[in-house]
Amino acid sequence: MHRFNCLLFATNFKDGKLTFANEKATEFFQYSVGSNLSLTDIFSRASIVFYESYVKPLLLESGECSEVQLTILNKSAEEITKEPAIANVCYDGTLVYWSVFSATERDKLYQQLLATKEKLEKQSEELVLLTRLDPLTGLLNRRAIVGDLDKLSKQLQRVPVPVVVAIIDIDYFKKINDSYGHHHGDEIISRLSLVLKNTFRETDIISRWGGEEFLVVLYNCDLSESKEVFRKLHKSVSEVEIAPNHYLSVSIGVSQLPEGNQSIVGAFEEVGRQADEALYSAKANGRARTVYWADEN
Ligand code: GH3
Ligand code: MG
Ligand code: MG
Repeated sequence: MHRFNCLLFATNFKDGKLTFANEKATEFFQYSVGSNLSLTDIFSRASIVFYESYVKPLLLESGECSEVQLTILNKSAEEITKEPAIANVCYDGTLVYWSVFSATERDKLYQQLLATKEKLEKQSEELVLLTRLDPLTGLLNRRAIVGDLDKLSKQLQRVPVPVVVAIIDIDYFKKINDSYGHHHGDEIISRLSLVLKNTFRETDIISRWGGEEFLVVLYNCDLSESKEVFRKLHKSVSEVEIAPNHYLSVSIGVSQLPEGNQSIVGAFEEVGRQADEALYSAKANGRARTVYWADEN
């Protein structure tokens, strides 16, 4: 009995007094015959409550209880420490027989598993974010905005609000690349993305639609409100210096989701096509301007 590598002990069902302990339990609990130890001296308070309310009724009913999780007080060390443990318990009508195993390693493993799970969840969130973002500008990429517009369509079915769609394209970008190099071209795209972030609201969606083209969705904004926003945008863009005395400009094509038809499948494709048409017109009419599809149709 004394050689068993677990705590074996017996307690009185009625008063919880220890009546027997093997060598390991004797050392662990600093027990000696006549020392009057009881369960309240060897288990944590929470474990005692658990024993009284759950284990005892079960012992009365079925005579045994397996794999009970408890916290035991280790008195063999210099100071009393609390340790997680697993117990198998049985009852013969007078005494309760305990075999208790340390669960410290199991607990450690469980904590490690939890930490690994949290780390993996965080990494997978980061990955999802990365697949949605354009690495140069940090804006949503084309794939992400297509998905988001789908969701927005559904949301507009429930809460209809005016929505404006704009396509913004850098003027003569090829010349910028040819004159100052591709790397400088990238820098200009990146600086424009900052201007866009500063111009539009949190609730608007800004995305890099392709090379030097951006698609923006102004949420809860009508055409007349948007005019002021685009006027401001042209002004801020005109302050971006590509090279000494050479400033940036963009052309913008704008259209609006027709109110009442926002929920129609393909409404965004149609309004995007209109914005593209308006952009083409802006390019043909001297660039550095905004054209509204509604004004031309
Ligand atoms: P327009 O005023 O008519 O828009 O003329 P543009 O020169 O801007 O238009 P075009 O479509 O002819 O040229 C766009 C150029 O943008 C061509 C392509 O090499 C360049 N480009 C596309 N993506 C990138 C990018 O990520 N970085 C850089 N540096 N250049 C890019
Ligand atoms: Mg261009
Ligand atoms: Mg272009």
